[in-house]
Amino acid sequence: MKEKQIPYKIYLEESELPKAWYNLRADMKNKPAPLLNPGTMKPMSAEELEQVFCKELVAQELDETTPFIPIPTDIRDFYKTYRPAPLVRAYYLEKLLGTPAKIYYKFEGNNTSGSHKLNSAIAQAYYAKNQGLKGVTTETGAGQWGTALSMACAFLGLDCKVFMVKVSYEQKPFRREVMRTFGASVTPSPSMETNVGRAINEQFPGTTGSLGCAISEAVEVATSNDGYRYVLGSVLNQVLLHQSIIGLETKAAMDKYNITPDIIIGCAGGGSNLGGLIAPFMGEKLRGEADYRIIAVEPASCPSFTRGVYEYDFCDTGKVCPLAKMYTLGSSFIPSANHAGGLRFHGMSPILSQLYHDGYMEAVSVEQTSVFAAAEQFARIEGILPAPESSHAIKVAIDEALKCKETGEEKTILFGLTGTGYFDLVAYQKYNDGVMTDTIPTDEELEKYVANLPRPTKTM
Ligand SMILES: *Cc1c(COP(=O)(O)O)cnc(C)c1O
Repeated sequence: MKEKQIPYKIYLEESELPKAWYNLRADMKNKPAPLLNPGTMKPMSAEELEQVFCKELVAQELDETTPFIPIPTDIRDFYKTYRPAPLVRAYYLEKLLGTPAKIYYKFEGNNTSGSHKLNSAIAQAYYAKNQGLKGVTTETGAGQWGTALSMACAFLGLDCKVFMVKVSYEQKPFRREVMRTFGASVTPSPSMETNVGRAINEQFPGTTGSLGCAISEAVEVATSNDGYRYVLGSVLNQVLLHQSIIGLETKAAMDKYNITPDIIIGCAGGGSNLGGLIAPFMGEKLRGEADYRIIAVEPASCPSFTRGVYEYDFCDTGKVCPLAKMYTLGSSFIPSANHAGGLRFHGMSPILSQLYHDGYMEAVSVEQTSVFAAAEQFARIEGILPAPESSHAIKVAIDEALKCKETGEEKTILFGLTGTGYFDLVAYQKYNDGVMTDTIPTDEELEKYVANLPRPTKTM
């Protein structure tokens, strides 16, 4: 077949937008381990999960056999307001690097939330609405998830209550205003509105909060108010399912132009964008139909894959959520205060953890000053101000492209550009002022957190 001229941006037609999400678990021989009830250490039943999460989402969370789950028409129609997302050939970056490699990125920053998180937010809000609920609660740290959920709830007329880590609430007032503009109520956490918030405020007066504490508050409000459920923006199987839209679109666009990636790279916080991007490619790999090199990139200051342990652990610092078997640094681990680049979650998606454990993917960690250097290089030539999270993937894509320059190999590199960095300018300022530093935890520090795992030594 004659090679088609590859445009700078490949847009799929609206009609080519996937009609079903792809459930990677269906093709995994070793399924991810189930969530456990921390009280009984038994797998969480659908009934138990439905007290916290929406019914249909619980079904998706537990479904490890159905390969394709149809995207409801209403969600697909909403997707059309900002999807298909472009697949971009980074011609200018290739030229700048002088590499024979071909570099592509899937850009998920083309919506007002500025990240891929809207893909799952709209799905979760839709199922909540369908169940006849009044609203949903959640936590947000940096604010992208809270923004995405606020947008989805505004669209569907659902109440949205966001507990925002107090330090971000104060430091990122503009994120907060975006959420309020979309009608969400945003409460700094710890608040005086919940038992757990009041207790924490009493115990630690003046605390600026943590993600774990905000999760505990959001869960309390969801479970103690009729018509409310709690929703989460990453880590869970259902979130990776919704995010498979990223990979399905990418694969469709690549197939259209006979492009096959050799290397697929994504940043990894809780694993949702990476799990979504690689889904159909990993499916081929699992079924033995094709092979790809898949690389997860994480911050050196929060290295769950590269330096964590594969054990059951709490998903939240507050220890109210179920236990997940995942690569973890320990639920009380908090990255050093000078870490500005996002991806601060202590654990990792159970699906990706299992795949990594089984050798289907690699992981590398990178230091934040090198991440911002890559972000700057990319911004100046490709014209997009990348989110610091996304820039972890940019950094490793550039590294791989430079290796190709040395060896002369014409590899095709694909990476996920998950979002834009307009609300991360304090971090950019630090980098531009030359005051950004790198802090890598020592082995001793890491051992301290891992020592507190619920069942530290036994493999389950
Ligand atoms: C939340 C976020 C991430 C990290 O989350 P994952 O679940 O690992 O994808 C990456 N990039 C952006 C822009 C984000 O908002």
